[in-house]
Amino acid sequence: MTSAYLERARDELRARQGSGAREDAEGAPHTELYWARTGTAYFARKLGGLPDSGPAGLDGPSLLPGWDRRAVTAHVGYNARALTRLCTWARTGVVTPMYDTPERRAAEIAEGASQPARALRHLVAHAGVHLNVEWRDLPPAAWDAEVRTAQGRTVPCRETAWMRAREVWIHAVDLGNGGTFHDLPSAMLDRLADDVLAAWRRRGESPPPLALTPTDRAAALTTPGTAPLPVTGAMADVVRWLTGRGARGLTAPAPLPALPRWF
Ligand code: ZN
Repeated sequence: MTSAYLERARDELRARQGSGAREDAEGAPHTELYWARTGTAYFARKLGGLPDSGPAGLDGPSLLPGWDRRAVTAHVGYNARALTRLCTWARTGVVTPMYDTPERRAAEIAEGASQPARALRHLVAHAGVHLNVEWRDLPPAAWDAEVRTAQGRTVPCRETAWMRAREVWIHAVDLGNGGTFHDLPSAMLDRLADDVLAAWRRRGESPPPLALTPTDRAAALTTPGTAPLPVTGAMADVVRWLTGRGARGLTAPAPLPALPRWF
């Protein structure tokens, strides 16, 4: 193929796509956006593997206490819409919170979860695409504009990429049909471990003294305190435990203590 041919093909593609940006702005959080996008595909694959009904399908329980797979799916869809609102806030300066109230958020999930399977799948797919378009079209300065999360934290809009990456990857595992923390990008596991420890510090929690030594990492992670309990295992299993998804594959000389919640 000649370069003239390629150029013409690119021009035609641009014309078809319209004026929206097709690449993320320079200064966008490229790594986190990549995790969010691969995680969106991973969630879609896990969701696609579930039949519409029955206990082995969408109607069945998720790994999250009190939530069936429908609730997890509705939540992942509405989370994309909520993060889209934060991007709109960053882009326009008009305050548009993620959710009106925690009660309204819970009611929305309950209502959404009761939709026909087809509508539920459509919600996730459509809300995910919409968020991605919003990210693609975000002007460079908007990535640093401050917005407020549902937890009341003020963060730059770039945080939405990380927030979404967490949601799609971990809730895909929560669907409970074969997803595992071992599927997560390796660097994302490190980031998640830091995220949990930072959340505990921020909230002033007192986790038990731990010396977490992942077998597939060079450095250990520690929580404050004397005589920390040494815990070893794959980083994926360490992170699984830290994020409140239970202990598996971990070794310690004493029973594992209870941990503060992540969120
Ligand atoms: Zn969530």
